[in-house]
Amino acid sequence: MSKTKYIFFTGGVVSSLGKGIAAASLGVLLKYQGYRVTIQKFDPYLNIDPGTMSPYQHGEVFVTDDGCETDLDLGHYERFIDTSLNRSNNITSGMVYWDVLNKERRGDYLGATVQIVPHITNEIKSRIAVHNDENVDIVITEIGGTVGDIESLPFIEAIRQFQYENDEDCVHVHLTLVPFLESSGEFKTKPTQHSTKELRSIGIQPDIIVCRSHLPLDKDIKRKVAMFCDVKGDAVIGAHNAKSIYDVPLILEQQGMDRVVCHKLGLAESKSDLAHWKRFVQNMHDPTNISLTIAIVGKYTNLSDCYLSVAEALKHAAAHQNCNIQIQWINAEDLRPETVDTYLGHVHGILIPGGFGERGIDGKIQATRYARDHAIPFLGLCLGMQIAVIEFAQHVCGLPDAMSVEFDPGTANPVIHLMANQEEVVNKGGTMRLGQYECHIHPNTQLASLYPSNVIFERHRHRYEFNPVYKEMFEKKGMVFSGMSPDQRLVEVIELPSHPYFLACQFHPEFKSRPLTPHPLFMGFLRAARLMV
Ligand code: GLN
Repeated sequence: MSKTKYIFFTGGVVSSLGKGIAAASLGVLLKYQGYRVTIQKFDPYLNIDPGTMSPYQHGEVFVTDDGCETDLDLGHYERFIDTSLNRSNNITSGMVYWDVLNKERRGDYLGATVQIVPHITNEIKSRIAVHNDENVDIVITEIGGTVGDIESLPFIEAIRQFQYENDEDCVHVHLTLVPFLESSGEFKTKPTQHSTKELRSIGIQPDIIVCRSHLPLDKDIKRKVAMFCDVKGDAVIGAHNAKSIYDVPLILEQQGMDRVVCHKLGLAESKSDLAHWKRFVQNMHDPTNISLTIAIVGKYTNLSDCYLSVAEALKHAAAHQNCNIQIQWINAEDLRPETVDTYLGHVHGILIPGGFGERGIDGKIQATRYARDHAIPFLGLCLGMQIAVIEFAQHVCGLPDAMSVEFDPGTANPVIHLMANQEEVVNKGGTMRLGQYECHIHPNTQLASLYPSNVIFERHRHRYEFNPVYKEMFEKKGMVFSGMSPDQRLVEVIELPSHPYFLACQFHPEFKSRPLTPHPLFMGFLRAARLMV
């Protein structure tokens, strides 16, 4: 294919309609059509990235191979199109303004008055065009926020100009809500009409309208949307509430959304074969599946978005092992010696996810101890590994004051600490080990039996590390260090061979789990959890 094509997703009426899922689902369909697809997100906020934002506000921070801290939609994109993305796939207003202002300070604008139009919009357009290379056939760009927001206006203006300059190669998809009014028993298209009008007033006529609704839309409603929003009849696509996010590509495919897109872009269509995807979705919903209860002990318990990739990785592995997962979110602060049995006595597996800060540490140690003592499958991720180390030091190695320096800088037994060279960096403002690193697996370990290769690459996002001073002591007490950095200095994975499945890693395996290729550590964890039923 010669020329790169562009698809822009805007949203209307309300936020949280699942624009990211819709964009990712179209990505799946186009990928199955044989095209090489990338997806990028424009976030209109002024933070440079979500790395410093509270997970309560913004959900999980997703980390790419190249160490960029990104919006959680990037996780959906990667999982759906089964492609690793990078820092060029998540652009914030903060990044755009930062670069423009730096250029201004360097004098790059040669004395011009620097303005939103054209300088900011040109910068945005350059972030779209950056994907124009021989490895990408189609770029899908999701504009965060809702049409009419002040913040997203420069992005909307930029895509309008982009289309003006590349008309043949662009498609605009507008995602809206079609509410159902119980009182009159009918769907209402007026909000969609208004939102489309708003989009047109800033110069963009959508080619496709995706209507989110509670129940499937009938033909008359679709016809009405087509007529009043001025799109072709087959370009109104219904996206009713689905059983899972992985059903959405199938719902869009049934209505031929990929066909409409290919037609508009002048792309050849093939008969795409979604058999593997369909099988995964069927397995996921199979009523004969056995049900497993997995406890996730975290700091943010009322918002599953905070640990989104962990929940998705569990679902992927579960579907491949014909089981259903009931996640029991447990607030670590609720776990005390006298309550731990009530919370964890019935679960088939215990997972401690990543996290920062002291709150809930004691409860996480309680949960880990419970898993170790009661032979309950345990998976520790990042902070979860550090907790497993602290618990082992306190209760097996006889170091009751062992701690991470993150929670007790003056601890006499800093089993989790900062590496000497890191200490300096932290004093200069702090940085983390971010992105993909190589890990070497020791033979004849449980870890080695899980991965197909002894050299693996996993993504990191943390500051502290296992303190190697304690390694020998831990080994004598039965802990195996089964994954190490290539220079053998950094501990990446620990395990307890005396336990059915007690494994914890310094990296975040959840970021690399995909629906059709579940992650080996989650597969091992659920295989062990299944044996508990
Ligand atoms: N707070 C820990 C650290 O910085 C763990 C981070 C995490 O779990 N992502 O090392």
